[in-house]
Amino acid sequence: MKVAVLVGGVGGAQFLLGVKEALGMPAIGEPEQESPHEISAVVNIADDVWMHGLRVCPDLDTCMYTLGGGIDTAKGWGRESETWSVSEELSAYGAEPNWFGLGDRDIATHLVRTRMLRAGYPLSAITEALCDRWRPGVNLLPVTDDRVETHVAIEDPRGAGPKAVHFQEWWVRHGAGPEANAIVPVGAEEATALRETLDAVSGADIVLLAPSNPVVSIGTMLAVPGVREALRETAAPVVGLSPIVGGRAVRGMADACLRAIGVDSTAQAVGQHYGSRSTSNEGVLDAWLVDSEDTAQIPGVATRSVPLIMSDVSASAEMARAAFEIGGVTVPEVAG
Ligand code: GDP
Ligand code: CA
Repeated sequence: MKVAVLVGGVGGAQFLLGVKEALGMPAIGEPEQESPHEISAVVNIADDVWMHGLRVCPDLDTCMYTLGGGIDTAKGWGRESETWSVSEELSAYGAEPNWFGLGDRDIATHLVRTRMLRAGYPLSAITEALCDRWRPGVNLLPVTDDRVETHVAIEDPRGAGPKAVHFQEWWVRHGAGPEANAIVPVGAEEATALRETLDAVSGADIVLLAPSNPVVSIGTMLAVPGVREALRETAAPVVGLSPIVGGRAVRGMADACLRAIGVDSTAQAVGQHYGSRSTSNEGVLDAWLVDSEDTAQIPGVATRSVPLIMSDVSASAEMARAAFEIGGVTVPEVAG
């Protein structure tokens, strides 16, 4: 079975662990014998940022470290057993920016990536090279090799008037405090979707939208020409899972992003925002899973309420199974 999953960082990575388990693969690492199943994760790259001359790709790295067994499980991002000597030394020089967490172990990843970028390799090839070490057991595909950066229009917190800042500055430095007046994936319209990404969606038996941030993770990918069309045209069922449970983002500040695009923080509103493939011109969903405490009714979209809290891998795997079921696909039994 071929499964394509659109993902952001933490929510996406936790869900991918469950998809792997639901397909009989070890959640972390690669199957010992080649699996008859193939998972392609289409990953958001619009959070990517230059820090101290290094290219940082938070969502790709969160997926890679989580699936490869190198993540700091308490934080949900960054490397386990991390140390912070380089950041401390940078601070001692007064080197800005000092608000973005760059651990020593993590920096090695960014050094390898940056060096390969400078040598002319595309991000997709670099990701593949990094995954030679991490062996995530899924194909991690940046949605595009081109640069897309989410910018957020805010009022300057020090009173200097309206300005646009990189998503990370709003999210990490300001904790999404200043109201976002607009959120724009700069460069998305000119970007070319990665061929493998479009092929993964059109060749899949089922396509899943992870319970990731609908604006700055999934929304930024849908803004890359060809991605929405691929979802609308694939013969596979497209099933989304709500990142909003009981009117709130489970982790993080997705509500602040939804407010900026005028969408309520409810499972109903997010499902409606993604829309129906069959009854709307722009919609991408055939089915929408919401949490047991939520309900949704969207014309042209099958909905079901199931537990959607990823408290551990088996909970995530149950969510993946529910998605397969509502999508009408049966996971073939693996012999042996
Ligand atoms: P980020 O790039 O690290 O912000 O990660 P994602 O975009 O992949 O995921 C962030 C979203 O995941 C947030 O909107 C959360 O509401 C959602 N999320 C996190 N944990 C859970 C969970 O256990 N269940 C559900 N349904 N959503 C979750
Ligand atoms: Ca992210």
